[in-house]
Amino acid sequence: MTEIALITGGNKGIGFETARQLGAAGVRVLVGARAAERGEPAAATLRVDGADATFVRLDVTDEDAIEAAAKRIEAEFGRLDILVNNAGISVYVGSGADGVAPPSRTPVAAVRENFETNVFGVIAVTNVMLPLLRKAPLGRIVNVSSGLGSVTLAAADDPLLAGINLLPYNTSKTALNGVTIAYARELRDTPIKVNAVTPGYCATDLNGHTGFRTAAEGAEVTVRLALIGPDGPTGGFFGADGPVPW
Ligand code: NAP
Repeated sequence: MTEIALITGGNKGIGFETARQLGAAGVRVLVGARAAERGEPAAATLRVDGADATFVRLDVTDEDAIEAAAKRIEAEFGRLDILVNNAGISVYVGSGADGVAPPSRTPVAAVRENFETNVFGVIAVTNVMLPLLRKAPLGRIVNVSSGLGSVTLAAADDPLLAGINLLPYNTSKTALNGVTIAYARELRDTPIKVNAVTPGYCATDLNGHTGFRTAAEGAEVTVRLALIGPDGPTGGFFGADGPVPW
């Protein structure tokens, strides 16, 4: 049976590489993208590479678009095996000589905007896709979080992360970690596995390509958790080297 995966924000960066790797593993990939002009060519590129890839219009902040995507998946496939909540943004405040604004100079609107995509978008997509995941023999949800969302690492002044005190982004990923645990708890008596991952610092548009890992390297942990078997973990947070502290 060919498994079906939906990847939100699948048109570029880590999401695109996730779709590419899942496609190479024989999974039928639905490339979620909010704009057809970016999603169609991404899916076409994956098809040239031999993947079974289809563009699905999906803005994670648009409830009608989420409903429409679910109806289409239901009609075409009747189920969803893998949901990768990858779409994400980082709202930066401050620029130039001032650098990134500290929390005390960050408008609430910036935090709210970041939460709309990275947290509320994930909840909205998950709730609408869950009936389709329940129809799969082994549903898996992977939430693409970040080490910057780890309160343990932040509180310990982790040397890699200490200088990156981005209130909108970091707290949105902390919330996403909480969301991951909440769904894993609700679904622990079902076959559905729910995990969070951190791709590490990857060179993508999100950070002006300053990351030291490639998007393909970042995608690997997502793919690993997307393809776990019935004995795989649920309610965990994983990076390239294994479990990450919450
Ligand atoms: P990216 O290249 O900027 O890609 C982000 C993707 O999310 C794009 O496809 C974008 O679509 C999509 N997106 C944004 N808002 C959306 C919305 N409302 N609805 C649907 N799609 C939306 O960034 P990336 O680095 O690959 O990020 C992917 C994920 O990895 C994010 O969750 C990010 O927080 C996480 N992450 C990245 C890093 C890193 O170092 N890069 C580290 C840790 C975690 P458009 O093309 O339409 O904008």
